[in-house]
Amino acid sequence: MTGCAKATHQVLLVDDDRTIQRLTEAFLKPLDVDCEFAGCGAEAFESLARRLPDLILLDHEMPGESGLEILERLKADPILAQIPVIYATGTEKETVISRCFEAGANDYIQKPIRRPELVARVQSVLERQRMMRELWTNARTDSLTGLPNRLLLQETLGRAIERAHHDPNYHFAVLFLDFDRFKMINDSLGHEIGDMLLQQIASRLRRNLRSEDAIVRDSQMTTLSRLGGDEFVILLGDIPDEDAAAAVATRLLNVLNRPYSLAGNTVNSTASIGVVCSDRVYRTADEMLRDADIAMYEAKARGKACHVVFDPCMHAAVVERHRIESDLRHAVGTDQIHLMYQPIFSIEDGGVIGMEALARWAHPELGPIPPDRFIPVAEETGLIIPLGEQVLHAACRQFQQWRRQHAGLKYVSVNVSPAQLEIGGFATLVRDIVIQHGMTPDELQLEVTESMIMSRPETAVTLLQELKALGIRLAMDDFGTGYSSLSCLHRFPFDVIKIDRSFVQELNGERSEFVALVHAIVNLAYNLGMECVAEGIETHEQVAVLLAVDCLYGQGYLLGRPAAADGVFPPSWYNAAPAVASQLSA
Ligand code: C2E
Ligand code: MG
Ligand code: MG
Repeated sequence: MTGCAKATHQVLLVDDDRTIQRLTEAFLKPLDVDCEFAGCGAEAFESLARRLPDLILLDHEMPGESGLEILERLKADPILAQIPVIYATGTEKETVISRCFEAGANDYIQKPIRRPELVARVQSVLERQRMMRELWTNARTDSLTGLPNRLLLQETLGRAIERAHHDPNYHFAVLFLDFDRFKMINDSLGHEIGDMLLQQIASRLRRNLRSEDAIVRDSQMTTLSRLGGDEFVILLGDIPDEDAAAAVATRLLNVLNRPYSLAGNTVNSTASIGVVCSDRVYRTADEMLRDADIAMYEAKARGKACHVVFDPCMHAAVVERHRIESDLRHAVGTDQIHLMYQPIFSIEDGGVIGMEALARWAHPELGPIPPDRFIPVAEETGLIIPLGEQVLHAACRQFQQWRRQHAGLKYVSVNVSPAQLEIGGFATLVRDIVIQHGMTPDELQLEVTESMIMSRPETAVTLLQELKALGIRLAMDDFGTGYSSLSCLHRFPFDVIKIDRSFVQELNGERSEFVALVHAIVNLAYNLGMECVAEGIETHEQVAVLLAVDCLYGQGYLLGRPAAADGVFPPSWYNAAPAVASQLSA
């Protein structure tokens, strides 16, 4: 073999004639190739086991195995079959020529070899090979991150599944990653920032899979790929068991959950990871990816920023979720989405002071779907933006009709999700809607949950202040279920605190500690100039206790269940609360 440090191509010459070998090498010199020689089939395959060339020049007539037999063996091997072959023969028989093409040769050259013809043919085969490689790589690379794409992942995963079928000692795992707030970041900060985030995610994953994890580093089969959007898949080759895969998932979660710095914006984005191991028998890559995706959705349903190992019982839930997701796209903006209203009472005098709008979905086939099932899907998919706008319009339109007939009604209350608040221009949207429906700003109340506020307190304060400056009423919903403590209430510009049903449920003579707690909440709220509404009042005793601790407003099945707009104001309800109170005090 002649050494040529700068050679760009490797060529294997398989010919039993030493003179022809030397001559060919000399002819190819100007092409900057590095030649290796084999005198027979056995030597050729020995050389191929050491190193794969870019091209094979194969002689027809040789002692032992003929060129055609060698060619057939080459083409039977999935890896060697990729190497182009130029077949050289001294015979001009057509049968030989057509057989060599049938066997898979890329080109053919007549002996005695002449320099110009050899150079031209080798050059053209190498060029074709280079272009094929480029096409192959482009088709398998994600252009944004430079990572393998779905196609390459599917091929690699297919091989891993195949290998696990034959080798009981080979185990691998698939991690399916999805980013919990990507859509919101992309929509609110723009696609360029979204792309930067994806690139940073890719490089964090790359660094972490390569340097720290011995299991991964040693494996031949680990593939980190981007499927599209914010979905990344990691194939962990040769991973001993589920626990080892879960340990990698935990480590990646820690790394990915740190803040990202994107063109001056600091962004938090947690990830949810679904894990599937090869001990479940899979036939195809798609089957395995589907289950990893299902486990990932389960991780989201369990509160995000975590990993979940796939279990077959997750299937049914996911099929339903997918259906809800795709049907919701068609439902938003139509009258399938409508509102029920639940009155908010003054417990003291029984008057209805507000109406809370609660979204309902009348699914044409599945029947009524409660908000707890479709609001999280709407939040996840970004559909909450148009849905929330639809709800705001409908509630304000309804209020406009009511206010003429019901003098005591001060406001309509609408629940809003974090994604709605965070999208740029929410305050302007709210202002326009209020004006459009001829309302004053204090006739609209927006309810945001405590957990939403506490997950990003700084951003929340700014957004709430913007709304406050417009004169919109603000209520903290489900107070007591999140992480906020009484001591941070003063930081937020709320008009109202809605004490969560779980506290109100405990208000009876035997649970004096809850009575004391609710009393403390009510006192603090009043000191901060906020009103208190007790949610989920179901018994007369709860009403009595609430009056005793000076909580003046309430909502609940005892006083009024959510009902359609035309049935929510029966005259009897007006007086329900004083009747209850006097009954209790008697
Ligand atoms: P929420 O805002 O805390 O609404 C109160 C929920 O408690 C309502 O359930 C209501 O029907 C229920 N409820 C009221 N009184 C009682 C009672 O005495 N006992 C019991 N057991 N439950 C009572 P719903 O309508 O199923 O709504 C659930 C949640 O869905 C709401 O909780 C709210 O967070 C969310 N939601 C509803 N509509 C919308 C909307 O338009 N946008 C957004 N973002 N979220 C909404
Ligand atoms: Mg509410
Ligand atoms: Mg609530």
